[in-house]
Amino acid sequence: MAAATDTLASRESAFSLKDFLSSFMLLELFKGLKVTGKYFFARKITVQFPEEKTPLSPRFRGLHALRRYENGEERCIACKLCEAVCPAMAITIESDQRADGTRRTTRYDIDLTKCIFCGFCEESCPVDSIVETHILEYHGEKRGDLYFTKDMLLAVGDRYESEIAASKAADAKYR
Ligand code: SF4
Ligand code: SF4
Repeated sequence: MAAATDTLASRESAFSLKDFLSSFMLLELFKGLKVTGKYFFARKITVQFPEEKTPLSPRFRGLHALRRYENGEERCIACKLCEAVCPAMAITIESDQRADGTRRTTRYDIDLTKCIFCGFCEESCPVDSIVETHILEYHGEKRGDLYFTKDMLLAVGDRYESEIAASKAADAKYR
């Protein structure tokens, strides 16, 4: 028993000596500097966001938008498929019949604090009305800022229609 205790003690003292010498000679520091030196002149792969941006897929799912046809008419026919399919229950729709007999939404809200950006709403829409754009740089500073109403969603659609149409066209052959 005494011999075993002596052996263990001597091992511990040898281990400590190794650690001490390693610290004293700054070996870990030089190992770190070796890694730094190796990558200092290597090709840089860090993207300097926001000045530099990585390419986005046409299927990227960012901020939502409601689209119009070229004549300015809203695409949405208030079928409520997007509301029904939304797993986060983030969409709220109310609808009514217009004087011309067509059905349109009187309310179309998306609570982006609930949204999980699954894309189901876009997939379910029969008229390509609700879409998710490539816009990822947006934020809210107070409660309610990320609650998008119909007017806000239509405004996003109006502003980015050319990009939305281009993304749809680029992805069309894979759908
Ligand atoms: S992306 Fe998904 S979670 Fe977000 S509103 Fe559409 S269906 Fe709902
Ligand atoms: S956005 Fe599309 S799926 Fe949703 S209610 Fe309108 S037409 Fe229907």
